[in-house]
Amino acid sequence: MYYPEPISKLIDGFMKLPGIGPKTAARLAFFVLGMKEDDVLELAKALVNAKRNLVYCSNCQNITDVDPCRICSDTSRDKSMICVVQEPKDLIAMEKTREFNGYYHVLHGAISPMEGVGPEDIKITEMLRRLEDEEVKELILATNPNIEGEATAMYISRLVKPFGIRVTRIAHGLPVGGDLEYADEVTISKALEGRREI
Ligand SMILES: [Zn+2]
Repeated sequence: MYYPEPISKLIDGFMKLPGIGPKTAARLAFFVLGMKEDDVLELAKALVNAKRNLVYCSNCQNITDVDPCRICSDTSRDKSMICVVQEPKDLIAMEKTREFNGYYHVLHGAISPMEGVGPEDIKITEMLRRLEDEEVKELILATNPNIEGEATAMYISRLVKPFGIRVTRIAHGLPVGGDLEYADEVTISKALEGRREI
């Protein structure tokens, strides 16, 4: 009620974004007011375009502007491996390493009984359908190393075993450049669990 209506609407809009409280929202709103009109238009267009033109890839469920997405259409990749991640941003993180040359499957969430998210709420059925392709030999579970991510990995692993497909879980370890003494016990025990011959 302190602001003219267009500004308070803008503030309300920003407050719908994650991690943005009233103060930050007000700061952003006033920043937008100070921007050049062309830049504001570009931003508004980018928002609407992203929402309108992006869909889930019918194969891997990643967000894409072409269906199937560019990764699924890339025939030079290794068909024998599918890496399962929770969110599109995890796929991007994995791609940036350039270490993985298989395909992906994006779940869009993780099983969380606490938050009422069950297996049917994430893209598991879509994943199972892909496993009917006999060329898939290994499913790499790269869900997050927290309770929800672990629960999801366990659930999928049990579900997929009957397919006769190798199910692996990424090793969780200590961050590079980190100090052992500052790592928490879960991280250390996971790092120990994921040890390998050198
Ligand atoms: Zn795809």
